[in-house]
Amino acid sequence: MYRTMLDNGHAPSHVLKVHRILSRALKIAHRRRIIGENVATLVDPPSVDETEANPFTTEQAKAFLQAAAKRPTFMRWCVGVGMGFRQGETLGLRWTYVDFEAELFHPKWQLQRLTWRHGCADAHACGERLHRFEPCPPDCRTHKNYKRGCPKPCPKDCRRHATACPDRKGGGLVFTRPKTKKSTNPVPIPPPFIPYLHAHKEQQEEMRATAGDSWQEFDALFTRPDGRPLDPRADWAEFKELLEEAGITDRRLYDGSRHTAGTILNELGVDMPTITEILRHTQISQTRRYVKGRSHLSKDAMRRMGDHFMPASEAAPEPVTETRTETADRRAARAQRRRRIR
Ligand SMILES: [Zn+2]
Ligand SMILES: [Zn+2]
Ligand SMILES: [Zn+2]
Repeated sequence: MYRTMLDNGHAPSHVLKVHRILSRALKIAHRRRIIGENVATLVDPPSVDETEANPFTTEQAKAFLQAAAKRPTFMRWCVGVGMGFRQGETLGLRWTYVDFEAELFHPKWQLQRLTWRHGCADAHACGERLHRFEPCPPDCRTHKNYKRGCPKPCPKDCRRHATACPDRKGGGLVFTRPKTKKSTNPVPIPPPFIPYLHAHKEQQEEMRATAGDSWQEFDALFTRPDGRPLDPRADWAEFKELLEEAGITDRRLYDGSRHTAGTILNELGVDMPTITEILRHTQISQTRRYVKGRSHLSKDAMRRMGDHFMPASEAAPEPVTETRTETADRRAARAQRRRRIR
């Protein structure tokens, strides 16, 4: 059953949740003598780490970064893939929390898309136009491009469709605090990233100057041409494009990048405690203080990783060249594409 769920594209963490719920139910049933044996104890739960491990090989990582180096979003991919940040963490990075001096990222925020809620008085009436109470016919053509198939019919007192509410609230792209304290621990920036980050900052200042009054300040590291943080959907689409360009077969999980970073470190002969320190996987990262007692081992590991990841011969030392030489046409096209995505 777990295998089927995974194959159908459910995240391992989701499958694990299902396993926990099932086990609990079976345990209670067993205790109450409803069933003779708790079968959940007989199967291994899917391990989140194992099942999500679908990391890039060294060659794939290189090919991916070489494709990314051709884009203005290069730095975003270095940070995401090279440091194993999740999408929300990467897009939520803000300059205030980048310590160039100590070479640390403080991931204090993440970018999330929240679902809208109705702000109107009568949510049911508000959705009038959109309610559909009859299920679709089996040969429905209206939703044939929907990835998850036809939407379920509305319940009688349906209060959905808040996206279309004229007074909608609480949704859209927002900066949120990460859920666990562990994920806000400072993370060493690989030293080779530093000059690229500076170049990226300069590039953003140009973008801000170009945008003039239309610039909206969010302090985000990775922004659209008007200062708003990158749109996660557009970002995801770009990720797919990059995979294709790099000749990597499609990956179910975006967050596999965490393992990719680990794989690379492992292949470079970095020991496991150091890898976990960087990837913030274990308690080690909770107990160690970075700012003062940051281990040289870890910094060294980051340096090695950075050296490895940077397509040095091709893109360095000017990762921004690509943007500067980009024609106005392409830039306009991209801006338009972004507008549409929003
Ligand atoms: Zn409805
Ligand atoms: Zn349908
Ligand atoms: Zn409404």
